Amino acid sequence: MGPRYGAVKLGWPRPQRSSQPMPGRSPDYLPRMPSRSGAPRPASDPRRQVVVVGAGAAGTMAAIFAARHGADTTLVEGSKDGGRKILISGGGRCNVLPMQLDESRYITDSSPNTMRRILRSWPLAEQRRFFEHDVGIALRDEPDLQKVFPASHRARDVRDGLLALADRVGVTRRMEMRVTAVVPDTGRWRVALADGSSLTADAVVLAAGGLSVPATGSDGAGLAFAASLGHTLHPTYPALTPILDDSGRFAALAGLSLTVTLTATSARRRAIATGGFLFTHRGYSGPAVLDVSHVLVRSLGEASAADRARLAVQWAPLDDAAWTERFRPAGARTALAAVRAELPDRLAAALLEVADVDATRALAELRREERLRLVDTLVRGTLPWSSDEGYKKAEVTGGGVSLAEIDPRTMESRLHPGLFLCGELLDAFGPIGGYNFYWAWATGRAAGIATARDAA
Ligand SMILES: Cc1cc2nc3c(=O)[nH]c(=O)nc-3n(C[C@H](O)[C@H](O)[C@H](O)COP(=O)(O)OP(=O)(O)OC[C@H]3O[C@@H](n4cnc5c(N)ncnc54)[C@H](O)[C@@H]3O)c2cc1C
Repeated sequence: MGPRYGAVKLGWPRPQRSSQPMPGRSPDYLPRMPSRSGAPRPASDPRRQVVVVGAGAAGTMAAIFAARHGADTTLVEGSKDGGRKILISGGGRCNVLPMQLDESRYITDSSPNTMRRILRSWPLAEQRRFFEHDVGIALRDEPDLQKVFPASHRARDVRDGLLALADRVGVTRRMEMRVTAVVPDTGRWRVALADGSSLTADAVVLAAGGLSVPATGSDGAGLAFAASLGHTLHPTYPALTPILDDSGRFAALAGLSLTVTLTATSARRRAIATGGFLFTHRGYSGPAVLDVSHVLVRSLGEASAADRARLAVQWAPLDDAAWTERFRPAGARTALAAVRAELPDRLAAALLEVADVDATRALAELRREERLRLVDTLVRGTLPWSSDEGYKKAEVTGGGVSLAEIDPRTMESRLHPGLFLCGELLDAFGPIGGYNFYWAWATGRAAGIATARDAA
């Protein structure tokens, strides 16, 4: 598992707001010519210089809006092409947005009110319009899953479309160039690069992501930069991650999938999700598992083995009464036949075994305790689990930079004027279903617009 930061506060001098007069704002959507960002600002170019760290979902959005609002914008990205998480998202189809947003489904240890204010800054309908009209990608709703995808089913279209728009509005891209430090420098910012050079800027956007799937280029550097600048980090943890089960109890069912309702309950938290569930060789995956995984993951760090969160499963949309009805004696009909009528054969057999009920017994022969045990297993059975797949497979990072230290209107640091933070490195994440891109797009846009604004 990758590093899990504790709540840290490190000292760093706060830069003073630049006393230099700032230019007036340029009109929206005005294409900008590529610039010489990073070089000392020539007297002939009075634009505000902005450096965005990380060309993922949030950073590319921030760069687009900074440039559109008149800033001389440089987007620095460690990987060759950027946006790697967009490419692998939604099974290669990129679930760009949810069809509807339920704000209550986001998780944060910061103030939920602050989080809601940020979420409302760029409403869903406007985000859709941006992708369809400005980026030029046709979107298609998938009502069954309540998700929005590109009509082409190609995540690459989203990534490439955003980078192309960034190019069109005049963002300068520095790819395959890691940022090694972000340092306040006499009222401005110095962004140190891996080749030993540095950029100077009036404003810096930290959009370097969290710790999830480090192979995509996000290895926690953004969190480390924020911590080094004195920001408080809520403890980070892998979220939306598959769950492992060492007991191997259901290993023979690997590959089987169905829709279930899961409830994860720890001493401090509870999460319920209805959706796809997949048995894997090592445990469980699928949207419902990922959506409740944070409760399990966090209980590992907080509880003794005995207090570990419980994972309960309702295998079918039937409650106690409905199953009891199905177990009424009916000739020679067996318990197995009754369960198989509602669930896949192999799972039905496995659950009878878990409930310690002989699959060949006729319903008429079942003792009351056996019937109750079986109903209990089917409606609220305990799923054994031992650990999680960690950041390697987690779709997002839970925890991160405290929202209390961010102005929710601008995403500007309350500790450092001219420093802006967005995307996954902030302390909030949502469930499966386009919620995490929604967060990245909204926070990236807000930061981008604000970087380019007139100095206060
Ligand atoms: C497998 C998978 C599937 C997913 N599917 C979906 C989905 O369908 N829908 C959805 O809403 N969400 C999905 N997510 C979540 C979503 O991808 C993230 O929430 C989102 O990408 C976060 O955006 P970000 O810009 O904050 O971070 P990232 O996308 O991680 O981008 C950060 C960027 O910063 C760069 N970087 C890092 N450090 C440095 C440095 N020091 N110098 C320069 N560059 C640096 C990285 O290379 C990277 O390009 C998925 C995630 C995964 C892993």
